[in-house]
Amino acid sequence: MTQFSPDAPARAHAFSLSSADDGLAALGAWREYPRVQQPVWPDEEARQGVFDALRAAPPLVFAGEVDVLRERVAAAARGEAFLLAGGDCAETFADSTADRIRNKIRTILQMSAVLTYGASVPVVKMGRMAGQFAKPRSADEETRDGVTLPTYRGDAVNEYSFTESARIPDPKRLWRTYTTSASTLNLLRAFTGGGFADLREVHSWNRGFTSSGAGYDRYEELAGQIDKAIRFMDAIGADFDALKVVEFYASHEALLLDYEEALSRIDSRTGEIYGCSGHFLWIGERTRQLDGAHVDFMARLRNPIGVKLGPDASVDDALRLIDKLDPEREPGRLTFITRMGAGKIRDRLPALVEGVRDSGAQVAWVTDPMHGNTITSSNGYKTRRFEDILDEVVGFFEVHQSLGTVPAGLHMELTGDDVTEVLGGTGEIDEEGLTRRYETLVDPRLNHQQSLELAFLVAEMLSR
Ligand code: PEP
Ligand code: MN
Repeated sequence: MTQFSPDAPARAHAFSLSSADDGLAALGAWREYPRVQQPVWPDEEARQGVFDALRAAPPLVFAGEVDVLRERVAAAARGEAFLLAGGDCAETFADSTADRIRNKIRTILQMSAVLTYGASVPVVKMGRMAGQFAKPRSADEETRDGVTLPTYRGDAVNEYSFTESARIPDPKRLWRTYTTSASTLNLLRAFTGGGFADLREVHSWNRGFTSSGAGYDRYEELAGQIDKAIRFMDAIGADFDALKVVEFYASHEALLLDYEEALSRIDSRTGEIYGCSGHFLWIGERTRQLDGAHVDFMARLRNPIGVKLGPDASVDDALRLIDKLDPEREPGRLTFITRMGAGKIRDRLPALVEGVRDSGAQVAWVTDPMHGNTITSSNGYKTRRFEDILDEVVGFFEVHQSLGTVPAGLHMELTGDDVTEVLGGTGEIDEEGLTRRYETLVDPRLNHQQSLELAFLVAEMLSR
């Protein structure tokens, strides 16, 4: 993010972006299409004030960075890199603290080290971070003890506490979404540009986490090997400047279209429109209607974009999404993030991949092994089994191996903390264990240890 590859410096500096241009008017066309999952802001004056402020505010990310990421995604789609995206299901304002953010970044850096060292593949690092504050929900209402209230839609919209006033959408929360995204990005840029992400720190990333367990121990061993390799390189006089800075991108679901629109800017170099709330934006399984507002809106942005595809997505759906979102068939533009479920991926994914391949389109195929594997435990927790998550990842690799296509990446819900939200792993979290440290407000996340275990499995799959 703060740094660019040597081949892209000119573009990195050409990021004069404006929101005043008339060219942005066409972006508003989404309002004419059916739209789902959008809050109704009750106070029009407050809404207007916030949107005026957002439109006038500096962009959070810059066009040059977004263009570099598009090239990185294209490399992943060709099998020359691997895309690793991870972070909370939903970020919260309260948890956007330095410690929590640092732990997530460290976890992703550690997973990347495992993948790069274990499978000799460059990793495109991406946080589900610095903007992931809004959630699509399956139900509009929630009932507890006979009381029914509007559902929680993420800190960007309303408050989690179960009271009537907390659940009223408040546009001021969008301003806080912007400022919290900015402070998160600021820390992210400092960590990844300021030496913290230097591969020579590979040991220190493990410090402060629970100090035993399979994932942790295997990581310590791998860090020792990396250290040894670095000492060897040092001894032969290698230049380490390239290790000091790391590209790290921000991504989130582009759910709230009025917010995304207010943070879109025209790039002065090309006159094209960039979503400047994050580098990579995706459309969720619930909002990917072909003639819906989200697809129309995202089609007008230059960013690399993702679309989630669940088990019921057809080849025809995929091809029509490509026609709308990637009519030029531009490498790196479109990523399909499949979330089929462990029991379905081997059955459903092959036809999709074959249909897309045969159409000549170039998309990056990424697996989200989380959202098709959500269950409720007998003691009432929304959870997932670690073995199902692993099984979906293995199925994803098997399908691509048998078709000769490219498994381009992994999209995870994880946290750097020692939460107990997902069943299993070598920490053997059982149903009783869920009660220990279940903190997520929405979907269950892998903890630090489980994230490392998963990275080792993926490294093995990648190096086959
Ligand atoms: C998510 O990524 O948190 C999510 C809601 O996913 P999906 O759109 O795939 O259900
Ligand atoms: Mn989720």
